[in-house]
Amino acid sequence: MSLTKKILIALILGVIVGIGFTFVSPEVFSPVDTYVLTPVGQIFLNLIMMIVVPIVFVSIVLGTAGLGDPTKLGKIGLKTISFYLVTTAVALMIGLGVAYVLEPGTEGTFDVENAEFEAESTPPVMDTLINIIPENPFEALASGEMLQIIAFALFIGIALAYLGEKTAGIFRLFEQANELLIWLVHVIMKTAPYGAFALIASAIGDAGLDAIGSMAMYMVAVVLALVIHGAVTYSIAIWGLGKASPIKFYKGFFPAMSVGFSTSSSSAALPIAMQSAQETLGVKKSISSFVQPLGATINMDGTAIMQAVATVFISQVYAVPLEFTDIILIILTATLASIGTAGVPSVGLIMLAMVLQQIGLPVEGIALIVGVDRLLDMLRTSLNITGDATAAYVISESEKRKEANTAESAK
Ligand code: ASP
Repeated sequence: MSLTKKILIALILGVIVGIGFTFVSPEVFSPVDTYVLTPVGQIFLNLIMMIVVPIVFVSIVLGTAGLGDPTKLGKIGLKTISFYLVTTAVALMIGLGVAYVLEPGTEGTFDVENAEFEAESTPPVMDTLINIIPENPFEALASGEMLQIIAFALFIGIALAYLGEKTAGIFRLFEQANELLIWLVHVIMKTAPYGAFALIASAIGDAGLDAIGSMAMYMVAVVLALVIHGAVTYSIAIWGLGKASPIKFYKGFFPAMSVGFSTSSSSAALPIAMQSAQETLGVKKSISSFVQPLGATINMDGTAIMQAVATVFISQVYAVPLEFTDIILIILTATLASIGTAGVPSVGLIMLAMVLQQIGLPVEGIALIVGVDRLLDMLRTSLNITGDATAAYVISESEKRKEANTAESAK
């Protein structure tokens, strides 16, 4: 059986078993969760997290060195960031539109009186951007500071490209390290069906279905907006800009989406997302290895959608009307918030506090959506990594066409 099929079965079984757990007493669920599901899920998570930093570092060095010319890198960087900003803005508009049409906060009863939420201090996005160049690259590698790792790897890659023959040994070493890491991804992915099953069953069993209750409409709004963005925006990009079939894209990228879904972490899904893009979708390595790690760090369309719907939902629950200027402010701050969201579970919710504070909505409103956020996080993370792969695919296809045209005119 193919890995994709196995993962699909694991996903479905995980959902069924997870829902089953919500009907049994905690005395039954708790030991199964503690001694079976959580350890199996955690081992799978650790296995993939183990290779995230090395793979990001090594593949960006190689990708940059492979591109050779830093101006080419600059152009690709500009295209990537423009694609990310435009798609995030579209995602936010879809989220806002769906929330306005479905009005999830106007029907039902919400326990506003007892809602309490302590806003954690959110990392200032500007500081993150300013500190992109690490003072100590080894500290950045050790603590998994993704943007700093990307910056350091870019410098090394550019230097290797300039030095050419002089550093051919180091270049070769990176190539071999890359081979080794890709081999490990393949091996680790063999455990994905078991890991995904355990993580999903545990997450659903933990969240319970009672939490859904009056939040059903909010969940429908978030899911609908996620589906529209995935099915329409990305398909248009793949078809219009990439001149390729969205169905083929989704089929090829499915294993990565399922890992994003089960782990709720863009970072954890990165190794398999890059492997799927390069091997199954034929994205150029030099492009995938730069565009996807950057996207896993700063491009979170699914998170932006949740933040847009949640903001409108909270404004409706607390009956605070939003002006047109508030809408613009939501688009601006939620874009920044999603850039600042780290690719790990639940951070999008913490960053939502920043959006609410900006437009003067009660941060306690977050308490209302906490209960269902774990489940939505799974779906939005899937979309987050799909956005990154779409960018890599579209940019790679356009580069391939450019190269073919140049070769053609050189004849
Ligand atoms: N879990 C999301 C991710 O890793 C971030 C979030 O929205 O919480 O992409």
